[in-house]
Amino acid sequence: MQLIIFGPPGVGKGTLSDMLAEKHKIPHISTGDIFRKEIKSGNSELIQYVEKGLLVPDSVVNKIVEKGLKQENCRNGFILDGYPRTIDQSEFLENVLWKLKKKIDLVLNLVASEEEIIKRLTARRNCGKCGAVYNLITMKPKKKDICDKCQGTLVTRKDDEPETIRKRIQVYEEETSPLVEHYKNKKLIFDIDASPRPRTVFSSVVEAVEKEIPKQ
Ligand SMILES: [Zn+2]
Repeated sequence: MQLIIFGPPGVGKGTLSDMLAEKHKIPHISTGDIFRKEIKSGNSELIQYVEKGLLVPDSVVNKIVEKGLKQENCRNGFILDGYPRTIDQSEFLENVLWKLKKKIDLVLNLVASEEEIIKRLTARRNCGKCGAVYNLITMKPKKKDICDKCQGTLVTRKDDEPETIRKRIQVYEEETSPLVEHYKNKKLIFDIDASPRPRTVFSSVVEAVEKEIPKQ
């Protein structure tokens, strides 16, 4: 089961991918998570792009994803989140998968309005210590500004500030919309309304996967 999950930043891709990965026992490959790890370890090349809300160059991203896809844990499938983001990346991906005798089965396209996304992202908080994610609307910590898991202090990620969010959505629309068309032409796209609560959206996702990917 080889899946791609699409959607603007803040639409809930990460949470949904984690839930789906757990259900099907396949890895969730999130370029965002990989980048954050790299940044934490001081990768200055990445830092300059991500902090400005710009896309990381294809050559850098491709290398990271190819390495991930060749791991043993991807044998039964994977969920790609945050990749591909350009037509060039999708072509690179097709090539890598072809060599591995695999193909993309389904592209889930999460859809929500810009207001909804800004509302959600400005409510998002991260634990500065362990990285756990909270949301002041949908997933409040038990104590205000304190992580439930490690008692660390919750912070707003720099790329979750409203101006950066707008910029990120704009970058997403400009760069990724052609990809939605690309996969629509291949009849692989399945649109999912991502405005309800995560649990409801997850049900739609599970339904789509069961309907679109025949059991082997
Ligand atoms: Zn924590």
